[in-house]
Amino acid sequence: FPIIRAQTSPDFVPDAKFYKVEAILRPWRIQQVSSALLKMGIRGVTVSDVRGFGAQGGLTERQAGSEFSEDTFVAKVKMEIVVSKDQVEGVIAKIIEEARTGEIGDGKIFLTPISDVIRVRTGERGEEAERMMGGHADMSSALSTS
Ligand code: ATP
Ligand code: GLN
Repeated sequence: FPIIRAQTSPDFVPDAKFYKVEAILRPWRIQQVSSALLKMGIRGVTVSDVRGFGAQGGLTERQAGSEFSEDTFVAKVKMEIVVSKDQVEGVIAKIIEEARTGEIGDGKIFLTPISDVIRVRTGERGEEAERMMGGHADMSSALSTS
C-alpha cells in the first residue's frame, strides 16, 4: 500500500481519501507531462500560467544564453491534479520523470489533503464525484474483472 510521505515529523500525517498534487513546472515540459498522465488514466487536470521566484531567481530560461528578465519572476505553469490516495505516488513519480532536466528551475510539487470533491452537474460527492469516466479507476477495475 502506498505511503503518503507528508512530512518528516511522525506526529503530523494528514490522512484523506483524496489529495491535490500541485506542481510548478517549466512551461515547455507541460505537454510531455500531461500526455504521460493521460496515458496513466489521469484525465482531470487544471493548468494555470503563473510566475514565480525560487532558487532559479529571475534568470529567464536559458534558451539563448543567460539573461535577466525585465522583472524578477520566471514564467511557470501550475498543474493541479486531484487524485485518490492510491494514485498519489504514481502521479508524483510520473511528473518527476517527465519534467526533470536536472538543472535549477525544474520546479516543485506540493501535496495537500482534500476534504471533499463535489460534481456540480449531479451534486455527487466523494468517490463518485472524484471518479472520471474512462479514468484510472475504470482502467484498473477493467483489468481486475478480466
Ligand atoms: P461532468 O459534469 O461530466 O463532470 P464537467 O465539465 O462539469 O463535466 P469536468 O470536465 O470533469 O467537469 O471538469 C471541469 C474542470 O475541472 C476541468 O476542466 C478541470 O480544469 C477541472 N478538474 C476536473 N477534475 C479535476 C481533477 N481531478 N483535478 C484537477 N482538476 C480537475
Ligand atoms: N481518480 C480518478 C479516476 O481514477 C481520476 C482522477 C484524475 O483524473 N485526476 O477515475
